[in-house]
Amino acid sequence: MISARNLVKRFGDFTALDDVSIDVPEGRVCAVIGASGSGKSTLLRCINQLEPTESGEVLVDGKRIGWTEGRNGPHRASERDLRLQRADIGMVFQHFNLFPHFSVMQNLIEAPMAVRGLSRAEARERASNLLAEVGLEGREDAFPSELSGGQQQRVAIARALCMEPKVMLFDEPTSALDPELVGEVLRVMERLVKKGMTMMVVTHEMDFARDAADRIVFFDQGKIVESGSPGQVLDSPEHPRTQAFLSRLL
Ligand code: ATP
Ligand code: MG
Repeated sequence: MISARNLVKRFGDFTALDDVSIDVPEGRVCAVIGASGSGKSTLLRCINQLEPTESGEVLVDGKRIGWTEGRNGPHRASERDLRLQRADIGMVFQHFNLFPHFSVMQNLIEAPMAVRGLSRAEARERASNLLAEVGLEGREDAFPSELSGGQQQRVAIARALCMEPKVMLFDEPTSALDPELVGEVLRVMERLVKKGMTMMVVTHEMDFARDAADRIVFFDQGKIVESGSPGQVLDSPEHPRTQAFLSRLL
């Protein structure tokens, strides 16, 4: 479902992604772990083409992101096409990234109306259902600043889901939260996993990764150094760098 092939991303002379290939089949969850600066956020940003890559390609549901099939073969997608392609890729960030001057409801309905062409009434109904699912019924008119971090992140997840994405990317969704608020966000994510959402999750929550992920990928210096089942990677890592990273977490 998500298929990134041979991604190379450079910032000047610095190689942030060094020939990264990763596949997440439909309904599976891939957790991405690794030290700060190893390229995890860059990977997610390249998957939805928020960052252009030097080479490689990303397919979501078989469609190449950033490209459009034309009569004379594929060509670069227009901004409009790219917006539609990105609508299939829900993204949740560490710092929520809600629109501060929009109410919760406005945050949810804006993109579905603008990009998916939903009527206001359709978007509001979809949004209300999602807010109930993430436990925020009745908070439609609140502004982000009036909510706790955990509530804001649940709004951010509901906002992403409001586009009915095919896949979801999470970039350390609980890292900015007070410890007592982490659980409420992880529970929403666990429910998404049970519903069969295809997900890539950058996280330091090893218990979540162990329980929810089908595969764990360890990232180091822009490369996938090791990947496997949670049991393989977390309990018997083979690569010295994975071993060193995990031992620092204990
Ligand atoms: P963290 O765990 O701290 O979030 P990360 O694994 O997500 O780290 P990235 O944010 O992907 O790491 O960054 C990977 C490397 O690319 C870092 O060395 C970073 O400094 C560099 N980098 C990221 N974005 C840019 C940019 N826009 N310009 C220059 N260098 C960048
Ligand atoms: Mg990051």
